[in-house]
Amino acid sequence: MRKPIIAGNWKMNKTIKEALEFAEAVKGKTCPDKAEAVICAPFTLLKDLKEAVVGTDIKIGAQNMHFEDNGAFTGEVAPAMLKEIGMDYVIIGHSERRQYFNETDETVNKKVLKALEVGIDPIVCCGETLEEREADKTKDVVKVQVEAALKDVAKEDLAKVVIAYEPIWAIGTGKTATSEQANDVIAYIREVVKGLYGELAEEVRIQYGGSVKPANVAEIMAQSDIDGALVGGASLKAEDFLALLNF
Ligand code: PEP
Repeated sequence: MRKPIIAGNWKMNKTIKEALEFAEAVKGKTCPDKAEAVICAPFTLLKDLKEAVVGTDIKIGAQNMHFEDNGAFTGEVAPAMLKEIGMDYVIIGHSERRQYFNETDETVNKKVLKALEVGIDPIVCCGETLEEREADKTKDVVKVQVEAALKDVAKEDLAKVVIAYEPIWAIGTGKTATSEQANDVIAYIREVVKGLYGELAEEVRIQYGGSVKPANVAEIMAQSDIDGALVGGASLKAEDFLALLNF
């Protein structure tokens, strides 16, 4: 059985004070039997957040990292630096990073492999643009992205990878893919992973992301193939995050 995973992606939001207030508000109120709770926060918040949730079931993740171990990469953060402060997860290949920061399928793959090497579980994002959906290319696009992301991932590591299907046109726009549309693509993504790894693909959790909120999370989570959600805007308020976890 795959345990659902609800991950908040705070993007570039919150001060340390705000993050700690959030942690206080959600501690002890999550639903560990129902879903794994993850908060992916900006780098400056990660150490304090991780310390604030010690002893709880809440996991903390970064939103990006470099794929090299160290060196002359001004402004970047290395995988071992995130491991040193106890990061459980790292988001890789979010569409905003692909769009604004030149993330490519190749760098996504390098980061996935490196995250697994240092012991941080990657949440790998894929998804099509509106143009691609309208041209009926959704499945082709996600197949290329997922196969590229998983290149050279060892069989033993596959279950540590979380895939987030996030149609770009649904991120931060208030437009959600219908739960059937999301389920259909997610079921297809599992077929793609099956094509690479056979039945091991059943162990991989595949989330949906794109304007998920307390009002629509139950319907999305009721779908047969959706194992969780990656949530931006609606993960910023403690009460909303708790409502998402309690789908
Ligand atoms: C995201 O940031 O991954 C996301 C899905 O954002 P939102 O929930 O705001 O659409």
